[in-house]
Amino acid sequence: MFLPGTRIEVAHPEFLRGKVRAALFDFDGTLSLIREGWPEIMIPMMVGHLARTPTAETREGLAQRVEEFVMRLNGKQTIYQMIQLADEIRARGGTPLEPVEYKHEYHALLWRRISGRVTALETGTMTAEHLSVPGSRELLTRLRALGCPLYLASGTDLVYVQNEVGALELAEFFGEHIYGAIDQYQNFSKKMVIERLVAELQLQPGELLGFGDGFVEIEEVKRAGGIAIGVASDEKHRTGINDWKRKRLLQAGADVIVPDYRDLEGLIELLGL
Ligand SMILES: [Mg+2]
Repeated sequence: MFLPGTRIEVAHPEFLRGKVRAALFDFDGTLSLIREGWPEIMIPMMVGHLARTPTAETREGLAQRVEEFVMRLNGKQTIYQMIQLADEIRARGGTPLEPVEYKHEYHALLWRRISGRVTALETGTMTAEHLSVPGSRELLTRLRALGCPLYLASGTDLVYVQNEVGALELAEFFGEHIYGAIDQYQNFSKKMVIERLVAELQLQPGELLGFGDGFVEIEEVKRAGGIAIGVASDEKHRTGINDWKRKRLLQAGADVIVPDYRDLEGLIELLGL
């Protein structure tokens, strides 16, 4: 069911309203479009490695398998996708490198695609608006004005997240509350960030509001009794719904699906803020 006159889809109308005390955001695909197209880098890279193992699978078959686990693990730290790659290589009789080596390879490849975007932001030839999910700044501004503390947790390495949050001029909204992947990957997860947040702020059901375009964050926000807004953003076109994301977000338990934050007034009203 859609909120009349908007593109806001309400999947679970029974969620608790008007109680939100803190908001948590994923970064890539939820606020930032800087890393748009990352699967087109990660999936072929992994297929290339698997194609060199002593099995007779077709590239198409491998691509399907890779896409399945890459997307299932999206939202967790990147290293988990690389750990799975190493396992898949081993299962096919190959000898994998350390997962962190694949992570570095992936990042070097991705950086070729996206470094120009970061430079364009820094030199002002592109505006932050063009590389953000539409309405991001307005949404953050509104939530802050409502007195809601804002947190950001990303599966991308923290150093990159901090740099890209800065490039999009969003740092002021989050202050110290920016979390991302670290080398000791066992010491960070979105689940840990959420559990700490719930404990520190003593959040009750309906008091945590979570925004994300990945399976993991939606699942964790729901587990914590929060309201989960699934952001089915079409990162390439910056408008309309990505159907594949929408399906996954609904499976993960999202209460509401939005393509972006253009219908801000409707969303704020829906949440009872
Ligand atoms: Mg994301």
